Amino acid sequence: MRKNMTATGASVFLLLLASSLWAQGPHRYQPGFNLFSKEQDVQLGQENAAAVRKQMAVINDPLLTDYVNRVGKRLVASQEAQESKFPFTFEVVADPSINAFALPGGPMFINTGLLKAVDNEAQLAGVMGHEMSHVILRHGTNQASKRNLLQLPAVLASQMAGNSSMMGQLAQLGIGLGANSVFLKFSRSAESQADLMGSHLMAEAGYDPMEMARFFNKLGGQGGGAHGDVAQFFSDHPNPDNREKAIEREAHILPQQKYGYQSGEFSRMKSAVSKIHEPQPKQQPKPQPQQPTQ
Ligand code: ZN
Repeated sequence: MRKNMTATGASVFLLLLASSLWAQGPHRYQPGFNLFSKEQDVQLGQENAAAVRKQMAVINDPLLTDYVNRVGKRLVASQEAQESKFPFTFEVVADPSINAFALPGGPMFINTGLLKAVDNEAQLAGVMGHEMSHVILRHGTNQASKRNLLQLPAVLASQMAGNSSMMGQLAQLGIGLGANSVFLKFSRSAESQADLMGSHLMAEAGYDPMEMARFFNKLGGQGGGAHGDVAQFFSDHPNPDNREKAIEREAHILPQQKYGYQSGEFSRMKSAVSKIHEPQPKQQPKPQPQQPTQ
């Protein structure tokens, strides 16, 4: 009798534990502390995007541009992206390193090296969803806010009063912009958040989130690569522990979705991008894990 009661107690406990884990559901993240307004994120991103377009070789191939926009629009239709109200844009740049980056407020740049490296559309959607999540969670301006707590309020206030360029004002604080700016170097916890939210965006768009885990796994396995630029993504996006496992766990808690969406343009994109010869990267630093300087 007593033994039975213990057994019953144990199974009740296990049931409660299981239901509490179930009730947790997918991770929900909100943007953290920020001295910038959302409008300032947008302005900063647009000024910075104009600078990037001067520095990098943006590609005006209608097929490639349409393709990344088609995938991007499906991700933008997801709930968390819609709630953010950020105006996302998607452009392709001729750069052999496997990477993509998104500026505050929404402008995203996707390297031809990434388009060449993905095995399927879902893997591209995974990286794009990850980048969009950095924008939605405002990681770039959150990081700049934490580092420049004392000086930023005055700069942002004077910027609002006049029409001066935000980039110019921030440069006075030593906040560099362009492809290597502080807005694009994230902490490992920001990376984990972007992975998990990214898995939601892609799942809602009909792409299997497990493909994001597979792609990161593939990149990790390639190490430095023949050109030394294969792992560039991990230079800008430090690898959290057990990254693939965490994405897989999240994929299992997500509400059941129908995966397998494809635009039907993947092989045409692959053929178009294979014809692009990228300029040699200008003295890019060797990829190595970056620690945020606090
Ligand atoms: Zn990242």
